[in-house]
Amino acid sequence: PYDGPTRDEVIALRHQYLSPGILTYYAEPMMIVEGKMQYVYDEKGTRYLDAFAGIVTVSVGHCHPSVIDKVKAQTDKLQHTTTIYLHPTIAQFAQKLASKMPQTSGTTGQPLDKTYFTNSGSEANEIAILSARETTGNHDVIALRNGYHGGTANTMGLTAHGTWRFKSNNPSGIAHTHPGYCYRCPYNLEYPSCDLKCAHDVKNVIEYQTSGEIAAFIGEPIQGVGGAVVPPAEYFQIVYDIVREHGGICIADEVQGGFGRTGTHYWAHQNFNVQPDMITMAKGIGNGAPLAAMTTTADISKTMANRVHFNTYGGNPISVTQGLATLEVIDEEGIQENALTVGTYLKDALLELQNKQPLIGEVRGLGLMLGVELVKDRTTKAPAKEECASIVEHAKTLGLLLGKGGLHGNTIRLKPPMCITQDDADFIVAVLDEALTAQNKH
Ligand code: PMP
Repeated sequence: PYDGPTRDEVIALRHQYLSPGILTYYAEPMMIVEGKMQYVYDEKGTRYLDAFAGIVTVSVGHCHPSVIDKVKAQTDKLQHTTTIYLHPTIAQFAQKLASKMPQTSGTTGQPLDKTYFTNSGSEANEIAILSARETTGNHDVIALRNGYHGGTANTMGLTAHGTWRFKSNNPSGIAHTHPGYCYRCPYNLEYPSCDLKCAHDVKNVIEYQTSGEIAAFIGEPIQGVGGAVVPPAEYFQIVYDIVREHGGICIADEVQGGFGRTGTHYWAHQNFNVQPDMITMAKGIGNGAPLAAMTTTADISKTMANRVHFNTYGGNPISVTQGLATLEVIDEEGIQENALTVGTYLKDALLELQNKQPLIGEVRGLGLMLGVELVKDRTTKAPAKEECASIVEHAKTLGLLLGKGGLHGNTIRLKPPMCITQDDADFIVAVLDEALTAQNKH
């Protein structure tokens, strides 16, 4: 049993010693002191199904035994020296990642087999933007509205939710175009008669807001923080073609959608039949390790050698051991297949629930990257922000941890560890049903 400081003592310590910028999620902040596969436990030993997986990091399960065994063995042997010395695991892990890259780059035709390791998704995206600018000689980068790419200077600029952007930080050379968010079409059109105006609009953005020659386009194939927004099948093909006509490199941010989470494919972008030139990864890559990466072609990666670039902890032996062990579990335990089976089952059950619960405006997503957008009224689609917040609170009291997303925080995000079972899916739906019903009575 847990014998550390009490929850109240920890709250007091946080107030006194941690930056108020470090937010907590619930009205009564939770303390989580243990995790086992799809479950986490608070200090009293209460078990919760973790349907948010530490914000989509825990891909194969909390403290997965074979991951933990390998990390423990590595910790005993060597923790850290930095990449100025050789170590086998960083090289083996990069080889493993290259083996998972399905297609060649749509721009250079070369395989994606050169990886730069960092400690966070923000850093991986910074390296991606830097590499694209160095390679093309252009400065402007196009990103998507409703996207999230990180909290460093440039990646906060790429992020397109006012809630995540500070007033004093506005980097140059970033413009935003429309995502394929059909439920909230900015033109009030219907797919497919819309002819994907949202995708074609990137041409206007490039022509009106940049010199016409750009460094890159970056987009999450399925928007994560934005609320599991899945564009139409041909959306990214249209955008990538226009971007390449204007000299840009295409970057897929696979931080949330990668590693089998969409079930149908290992990478989320494969659902849209495109060939990115760079892939950025974090979160699920290491099952919770501070580990991230940018993988690209030989030609594009060369630019990182234009100057000295150094990342002290990037690719450290412990993180890459955890990453390699995670990728092995994904292969060995049929994790992607489980994301497809249980994810499809869960999505079908949520669609069924939508018939009964008027607050549910849309159920969307692929595999175990699902979103349930809540609206006060299905005609006006007014975001049910407060309702969403209280459903997330209510679900906690019933033993379920959920995520929230979208500009208005009105989309429930379901992205559990990919080892969850059909019984867990039933539990998620039963809890949502109960919490939604309670809202209707208010
Ligand atoms: N890209 C995406 C799609 C993300 O969801 C996040 C984190 N939520 C990041 C990048 C940034 O990752 P990190 O917090 O590790 O810097």
